Amino acid sequence: MFELVFTRRYAMAHRLRGDPSGRCAVPHGHNEIVTARLVPVRTAPLDGSGNMVEPFERAKQRWHGWIDEAVDHAFQLGEEDPLIAWFAQHEPQRLPRLLITPGDPTTELLAVLLKAKLEAFLAAEGGRLACAAIAIEETPTNTVVFSGAVAEALPAGLGFHRWWGRADASINDLKTAALRALP
Ligand SMILES: [Zn+2]
Repeated sequence: MFELVFTRRYAMAHRLRGDPSGRCAVPHGHNEIVTARLVPVRTAPLDGSGNMVEPFERAKQRWHGWIDEAVDHAFQLGEEDPLIAWFAQHEPQRLPRLLITPGDPTTELLAVLLKAKLEAFLAAEGGRLACAAIAIEETPTNTVVFSGAVAEALPAGLGFHRWWGRADASINDLKTAALRALP
């Protein structure tokens, strides 16, 4: 079985309000590296002429385009974080730069949501490739790898109707919610 492995680096900020030590509850940042492992949905021998597993340039381009444009330098916040309301009130132009997650934006959750997003992109590209695993290296000594089914890892009650299930550039669903919250 062939695996296609792509790696991309991005900078991010987040805060984890539930961190028992309180250390991660203050906004701070990391330079992270996300690695995606893709496998062809159907296995077939190389064809003897082109000898490529799948023309994966488009899928890779879309994925890395999203990482560069949307995820890089985004501020990751849990959807209950009052900082979201602060941005909505004082700097609403920054709302598209907030990556909003159900509960704290831990690396474990991000790995699940990024896998969901990549799967949405792959489906939109014809579904010839599947994502076998996503790895997020949060520091040179800490990496989270997620290789399971997204539906089984998402917090209970969440489906694919949110940003991670859409093959678009979104990193939150704030548009309507934030506007509703504004006076
Ligand atoms: Zn952190």
